[in-house]
Amino acid sequence: MIQLKGIGAAGGISIGVAYKLGKEEFVVFPEAIAWEDIPMQIQLFEEALIKTRREIIELQKRISSDMGQEEAQIFDAHLLVLEDRMLIEEVISRLKKEQLNVAYIFSEVLKKYISVFLKIEDEYLKERIADINDVGKRILRNLLGKEKRGLEDLKEKAIIVSHDLSPSDTAAMHTKNVAAFVTDMGGKTSHTAIMAKSLEIPAVVGLEGITSKVNIGDILIVDGNTGTVIINPDDETLRNYQQELVKLKNIAERFLSVKELPAVTTDGRSISINANIEFPDEVSSVKLHGSQGIGLYRTEFFYMNRKDSPSEEEHYQAYKYVAEQMNPHPVVIRTLDLGGDKFLSQFQIPHEMQPFLGWRAIRFCLARPDIFKLQLRAILRASVYGNLKLMYPMVSGIEELRQANGLLQEAKDELRQKGLEFDDKILVGVMIEVPSAAMTADILAKEADFFSIGTNDLIQYCLAVDRGNEKVAYLYEPAHPAVLRMVKQVIDAAHEAKIKVAMCGEMAGEPSLALILLGLGLDEFSVPPQVIPELKFIIRAIGFKNVQEIAYEAMKLSTGTQVEEFARKKLAEILR
Ligand code: PEP
Ligand code: MG
Repeated sequence: MIQLKGIGAAGGISIGVAYKLGKEEFVVFPEAIAWEDIPMQIQLFEEALIKTRREIIELQKRISSDMGQEEAQIFDAHLLVLEDRMLIEEVISRLKKEQLNVAYIFSEVLKKYISVFLKIEDEYLKERIADINDVGKRILRNLLGKEKRGLEDLKEKAIIVSHDLSPSDTAAMHTKNVAAFVTDMGGKTSHTAIMAKSLEIPAVVGLEGITSKVNIGDILIVDGNTGTVIINPDDETLRNYQQELVKLKNIAERFLSVKELPAVTTDGRSISINANIEFPDEVSSVKLHGSQGIGLYRTEFFYMNRKDSPSEEEHYQAYKYVAEQMNPHPVVIRTLDLGGDKFLSQFQIPHEMQPFLGWRAIRFCLARPDIFKLQLRAILRASVYGNLKLMYPMVSGIEELRQANGLLQEAKDELRQKGLEFDDKILVGVMIEVPSAAMTADILAKEADFFSIGTNDLIQYCLAVDRGNEKVAYLYEPAHPAVLRMVKQVIDAAHEAKIKVAMCGEMAGEPSLALILLGLGLDEFSVPPQVIPELKFIIRAIGFKNVQEIAYEAMKLSTGTQVEEFARKKLAEILR
């Protein structure tokens, strides 16, 4: 049993089998076979060996003519592995003894060989590991009759283990059998982590070196609440976690009991609890968790895992669907926020030294009115089917808001010329996620219909901490007094101008911090759908006067840790 500590990126606990993405793409599950099927399994194995041999000889020939004799000789070692009698005999004898599928037996024997070689001191023999690994994978691929196995082939529920996952990898998991994921890299609010929440699976990131410690088929416990991952747990640990799973389920049921009730404090203050989504088909989960609307519909994922750009019609159909499904509840569509860690291959974005400070989000959209207006027209056209609003990401000052609104006006004129209908009074909000926007919130509030505080970015810029970097993750503190002061300033400026303030960053979904945010006067929370019942439960248990006092006390504290401890204590008192 090995226990590792990383950063809990998405809550919950999962117990399952490891599936490694990246270098080792294979997952082989044991399957029992009948005694009479053994000859067929041996034949499969022999055929895979012959096919692999043919492939290697082919490759050798090609390399010999392209690169020369010497390079081609590297593959002699691979051919030797194929002829290794000991390896072949061990597979056949274990196959007869254990009566499990040959692919599984072979992967086990391969693992054993590699671990034996790993222990050898001889440098030459150590180098053979790469050869064994390489040939082993080829044989496995042929045994499984696959060209290359990736996430697409995941048949059983598994836990993904990977060095890193790009948002598009995570987007691909959307329809797959993924129980949880763990990565070497990443921070709490990296987009990979956010995607895990929307997939409603636990995730632990920033586990430096987990990929080298886990083998495919290992049993893993992923505890996204504490950031713990346990590899091949002992019986007692496994039992404890299974009990914890039952406990968590009971707590979730307690929260779910209030999901359809309004979020009103004991002294009558009404709060909107909305959901964050990435995909149109998440509306069913949103409804299931009792949301009153969608406070953040991220639209970048629309562009991912495809070579071309979505057409206006595709945008329109997606927004129309969400608008209709949620009607009469509001849906806030956030315009394209590409850049930073949300990189889209369709657009030729030059490599930048500091992508988070670079050509991203509204900056990109203002420079590419063709792409921006296409999306704006689609949102406007869909606005007649429900209660749609839109908001711009990464606004850093009033000029950007005015420019974006200028393009919105052009988009409206274009639709008018075509005689197409739209909601001319569609509300337009500004995301507050750049410190300069927070500091000039009073100026922006005069020309915005609403604010939505994007704390994921606001915190990274305010504290100068890369949100996706595990090395500095300890500095990424939502409860830092600097962050709280900015949030308070934004709320006060908005209320002065009589507009509403939402928060759609991950901070809004931290139950203990919700007390402080409520006390500061936040009007709306937009959170991953599964957090909604818990937030409602908390809001229904407190008085507004009470949380105002809590916020007042919290603002006097001098460190993020103190604020967090204080808030957690207060929440525990309330929930008790
Ligand atoms: C944010 O920055 O808080 C936010 C909601 O936007 P994203 O996480 O998509 O950058
Ligand atoms: Mg953001």
